[in-house]
Amino acid sequence: MSSGRSNELSKQKLLNWYYASARDLPWRHTSDPYAVWVSEIMLQQTQVVTVIPRFLDWMQRFDDVESLADAEPDAVMKAWEGLGYYRRARFLHAAAGQIMYRHGGRFPDHFDDMLALPGIGRSTAGAISSICFGAHTPVLDGNVKRVLSRWHASPDATETELWRLAQDAIQSQGDPGQWNQAMMELGARICLPRRPECVACPVHTHCALAFSPVEKKQTNRVAVRDVHWRVHLHLDGSNAVWLQQRPGDGIWGGLWSPPVTELGRKPSKKPCHIHQLTHRRLHLYSHISKSMPEGEGRWAEALNDVAVPTGMRRLLQKHGMRA
Ligand code: SF4
Repeated sequence: MSSGRSNELSKQKLLNWYYASARDLPWRHTSDPYAVWVSEIMLQQTQVVTVIPRFLDWMQRFDDVESLADAEPDAVMKAWEGLGYYRRARFLHAAAGQIMYRHGGRFPDHFDDMLALPGIGRSTAGAISSICFGAHTPVLDGNVKRVLSRWHASPDATETELWRLAQDAIQSQGDPGQWNQAMMELGARICLPRRPECVACPVHTHCALAFSPVEKKQTNRVAVRDVHWRVHLHLDGSNAVWLQQRPGDGIWGGLWSPPVTELGRKPSKKPCHIHQLTHRRLHLYSHISKSMPEGEGRWAEALNDVAVPTGMRRLLQKHGMRA
């Protein structure tokens, strides 16, 4: 059998496997570009199990572009609370505004128009345009990169080479949306980073690196800096706490928090709470303040309706705040 033909056979095996065993995920029941867009953005840095309930909740609150565009920024941040990387929520909100303004509220169906929206890169635009509009635009997220580089024995392939492989693979597909989802599914469930399950893989007969030991790549460890914050808790008689909105461009940008000051060095006492971020480890030291708060802010008796970052929420809970 020619290698071209056998490669096509592998692709068909992959699709058959996907049709038979794909996970039943809520965003796979729709081709509404708004819903697919929201799911793709949520999935960028958050695991599927976490995303499922949050996606359903989001779609209840903001069921279309218009309702998202009309929402207050605070409500959007609140709906995103706990998913982390809040920039994604700000981009979603900003992009919804642009869709209303530039496209009359209709999600654009052209790839380049999608790409022009805040927070939508080539891979996300590829997913939306293939799943919702049948375009032959590949996805190249981390999972797909891994599958392609193993399948084609190109562990050191550049980004450009991977895009070309992804484009070649999708070009002959009758349903490019299903193809992209099958590739993502294979990377997420079978072609795992450290322990690929080649024996269960539908493409193992034509994968160049099937059953090969996985090369241990030197991972670039992220340098984590310890940061020490004094958290000023202004409490009124009814146990409400004073919150201020954090500046948009720093840690927890746009979210609500008690005022904080950064300490020049590590205090001798233990922190009340430690919260890990990607590049920072925040040590939070509570300080009950007797003075009246200054500047703009709001009193909050409970945290249910306010977008408070998870680390600060934990600290406030330790002080008896309702969350
Ligand atoms: S055969 Fe193994 S290495 Fe190749 S794509 Fe499948 S799981 Fe990945």
